[in-house]
Amino acid sequence: MQSSWDFERLSEACNKAGCILCRLTGETTQRYLETWKDEMFTEVDVRAKLRSSRGFCNTHTWRLVQMGASLPLAQAYRDIITDEIEQLENDGGRHRQRWFHPKNGEALSPCPACQQSNEALTRFVFSLRQSLPEPSFYTLFLSSHGLCLQHFHLSCTLKPLAAPETWLPLLRQAQLAIMQRLEAQLSELIRKHDYRYKNEARGAEMTSWQSAAGLVSGEEGSIT
Ligand SMILES: [Zn+2]
Ligand SMILES: [Zn+2]
Repeated sequence: MQSSWDFERLSEACNKAGCILCRLTGETTQRYLETWKDEMFTEVDVRAKLRSSRGFCNTHTWRLVQMGASLPLAQAYRDIITDEIEQLENDGGRHRQRWFHPKNGEALSPCPACQQSNEALTRFVFSLRQSLPEPSFYTLFLSSHGLCLQHFHLSCTLKPLAAPETWLPLLRQAQLAIMQRLEAQLSELIRKHDYRYKNEARGAEMTSWQSAAGLVSGEEGSIT
């Protein structure tokens, strides 16, 4: 059995709205950014890593701006601007290999927050697969909003596919039931939108359009 800590977090996420992997990965990344902002930004190796990735990606940089990470960003991004100034002064801007963008050949290190997010996602995918055969978890998962499409397909295909017969049919079966339930709610919402049915009582279907947005495109701000 995987760590009971992951199992508990997966179970808790099933009781909340939206894709459980979006939620858990998003929470992990948020905690990482908070720790960076509060203490990690002064560490020598963390500063060096941020220089080699040329800072955080656009999404995580602006998340930190919103979090008011003024001194940490000032310090970390001054490092990067200093490097750029030095480079321009020394060679007039001729590209050194280490500055090349991935698309141009040489790899820039990935954004450290994206890296954390990807590692957390991988871990939760494997924990989810191990949790599905537990009947109590399966019931809980079935009553949840399931997975967004990106995370569903990733969960089905991410290697290694150890003993897929123990979890893959369960994952497909549960996701199918969840999507069928959502589809019925969407149809109901669309039907009641018609003025002839405007007086009918409104139910759970009224928020189904938001669930559909999260399921098809991932939860807000969670996919990097
Ligand atoms: Zn997701
Ligand atoms: Zn990032």
